[in-house]
Formats: sequence, structure tokens, C-alpha cells
Amino acid sequence: MKYKIILTALMAGSLLMAKAQEKAKPEDTEVWDPSPKVVTPGEHLGEAPSDAIILFDGKNLDEWVQNNDGSPAKWDVQDGILTVNKNYGNIETKRKFTNYQLHIEWREPEGLEGSGQGRGNSGVFLASIGKGDDGYELQVLDPYNNKTYVNGMAGSIYKQAIPLANPGRKNNEWQVYDIVWNAPVFNEDGSLKTPAYVTVFFNGVLVENHFELWGPTLYIGKPKYKAHGPSPIKLQAHGDKSKPLSFRNIWVREL
Ligand code: MG
Repeated sequence: MKYKIILTALMAGSLLMAKAQEKAKPEDTEVWDPSPKVVTPGEHLGEAPSDAIILFDGKNLDEWVQNNDGSPAKWDVQDGILTVNKNYGNIETKRKFTNYQLHIEWREPEGLEGSGQGRGNSGVFLASIGKGDDGYELQVLDPYNNKTYVNGMAGSIYKQAIPLANPGRKNNEWQVYDIVWNAPVFNEDGSLKTPAYVTVFFNGVLVENHFELWGPTLYIGKPKYKAHGPSPIKLQAHGDKSKPLSFRNIWVREL
């Protein structure tokens, strides 16, 4: 008797399941709304899509200021490219950002001298959180036959993340960084809620894969997070003696 009841219950159960499966349709798992916004891509790869904020299009530095005093950016703009002027220090965007996609192109000059960290050093600070080099630095450095510590080479998050490959081109050729930056999130008491993450494509090759940052970049010592909000993007005028490098085609999409 007992077994009969269990058997009947089991049969009823599987019948119900079969019926439920019978009723399931492909449409049940389709999502139609809301639609992603329409973005018109650039005509060629690397060109700004329709929803990008243009940070430098070859014409002027209207979107930039000097990091030290907030005065208009004084680096050199000529023939559609921006060249570091080491007399004036780092520049940063007037706008502040949290999470974003950034496209930036850079070129080491011909006749570059020096070696290691002293050869074509600059950097993209993914969030500028103070004067000088305060922030999270994606290293820019001559990547071609230029020996240095690997967590300080081009494509590294300086002294934190070694790039997964070195796809660097020769001097006098344009190099491209495509970056996805997820800013750190802080609790109201200033403690860290979520660390920063970064993904970087260097000349189309993945070099940082959702890397979790330890904190802001430090030249000496162990990084430690300190609370901050939306921040400018900063470019480095490094103190090395080599010929200054150039940038072009800089745009950002807020996420
Ligand atoms: Mg640097």
C-alpha cells in the first residue's frame, strides 16, 4: 500500500514536470526591452563612436589643464598631434570620470636615446587623485628592445601588473591603448568596498585582463587605497632626458 502511494506520487510528479516542459517555449527566455542605445561606430577601427567624448582630436587642448595649478594645458599641439612638454609637468582632463572605455594613441620619437625607465617614459593615469604622479598609472615607455623590470614596461600597471604580452611597435610608429577602467568604490567611512579593475588592449592585443589593482601607483612601497570620487585622466611628463613622445586621437566613453 505504502509503495503504491509513493509510486503514484512519483508518476504524478514526473507527469507534471513533463507537462511544464511541454509548455516552455523559446520566447520564455527572450528579452526584448529595454533595447541597448544605438551607437554609430567610427568609420574605421579606432575612430571615435558617436557617444564618445573627444578629449583630443588634433586641434587644441580645450579639454585639458595643467595638473599642478589647473591652468590651461601647455603641451605642444602641432600637425594634429600632442607632444609632451617637460617644462610644464603633467596634464589632466577638465572632466572627471568614474568607469569608462578610453582610446589613446602614442608614439615614441625617432632618435630616442636612454635606456630602461629613462627611454620614452610617460604614462596614462587612469584616475588622477592628486598632484604629480598621484593616481593609477598605465605605463607608457619605449616597448621595443628596451630592457627594464617587467612590471614597469609598456602595458604594465606600474609596479603591480606585468603585461601578458609585449606587442610594442618600433619608435616612430603609432601605438594604441584601448582601456576599460572600473574605478574603485568606497564605503561612507572611506574604507574600500570594491577595488579598481582594468582591462587593456595594446595594439589590439590583450595585456591586462580585468586586473584587480592593489591601490594607487607607488614608486616605492606597498600600494594602499584611499577614498576618492570621480577623477580626471592624467598624462605624465616624466623627468627622463629622452626626447618627448606624442599622443593623438584620444576619446572616452563613460560606462
Ligand atoms: Mg611613466
